[in-house]
Amino acid sequence: VLSCQDVRKTFGANVVLDGLTLDVGEHEVVALIGASGSGKSTLLRCVNLLAEIDDGTIRLDGEDITDPRINPDAVRQKIGLVFQSYNLFPHMTVLDNITLAPVRVHKRPVAEAREQAHEWLKRVGLADKAGAYPDRLSGGQQQRVAIVRALVNNPRLLLLDEVTSALDPELVGEVLTMIRDLKGDGMTMVLATHEMGFARQVADRVAFLDKGKVLEEGPPAQVLGEPVEPRTRQFLARII
Ligand code: ATP
Ligand code: MG
Repeated sequence: VLSCQDVRKTFGANVVLDGLTLDVGEHEVVALIGASGSGKSTLLRCVNLLAEIDDGTIRLDGEDITDPRINPDAVRQKIGLVFQSYNLFPHMTVLDNITLAPVRVHKRPVAEAREQAHEWLKRVGLADKAGAYPDRLSGGQQQRVAIVRALVNNPRLLLLDEVTSALDPELVGEVLTMIRDLKGDGMTMVLATHEMGFARQVADRVAFLDKGKVLEEGPPAQVLGEPVEPRTRQFLARII
């Protein structure tokens, strides 16, 4: 589904992605781990074309999405991105938050977008919240709405950046359950996380980012349990 080849991204003199290579297959869930500043969020932003890469290529289903001739809106329709802070519009209902982009940006029929939004809300147990404003929802509910907003475009790929780290501990579970259900549905996902337990539970593969490169990757049990690289070991020793 996704193939990042030798991706380089700099901010001034700061080389944030330094020849990063990562492939994500169909139905695969890949967890990105690594120290703060290692480039996890930057990679997800580059994949979603919110940041422009300096060098390398990013392919979605074989198509080079970093080609300047490509329409970024069309790519974003196929790649959902959800952030730590859910960024729901406070003056819009849950339903309007979810259908805004499909209707306005992607020109989908309102009725179709609404129907799909209702369907998703039902599936994640928020059917009764369609008409509510975000401030009436708990953090966990808001984050699930934000994920639904990414799902109504039927994306090929879902990118999740620390989607549980802004939540109170008791609200984390409902979001994790939703992500696990999505995995069960076969959704291809790349998620950045500081929670190794989460990575271990949902990821098929864990990629350890160090200084803008994937230093080590493999099954969670291997990378988290028996890391080969000294830097991975150091990182894990520091956070556990
Ligand atoms: P964290 O675990 O804290 O979320 P991260 O792995 O997601 O960290 P990034 O947010 O990708 O790390 O940041 C990588 C580096 O890029 C940092 O040094 C950061 O300061 C820099 N950076 C990110 N965005 C910008 C920007 N818009 N302008 C300048 N520098 C940036
Ligand atoms: Mg980050």
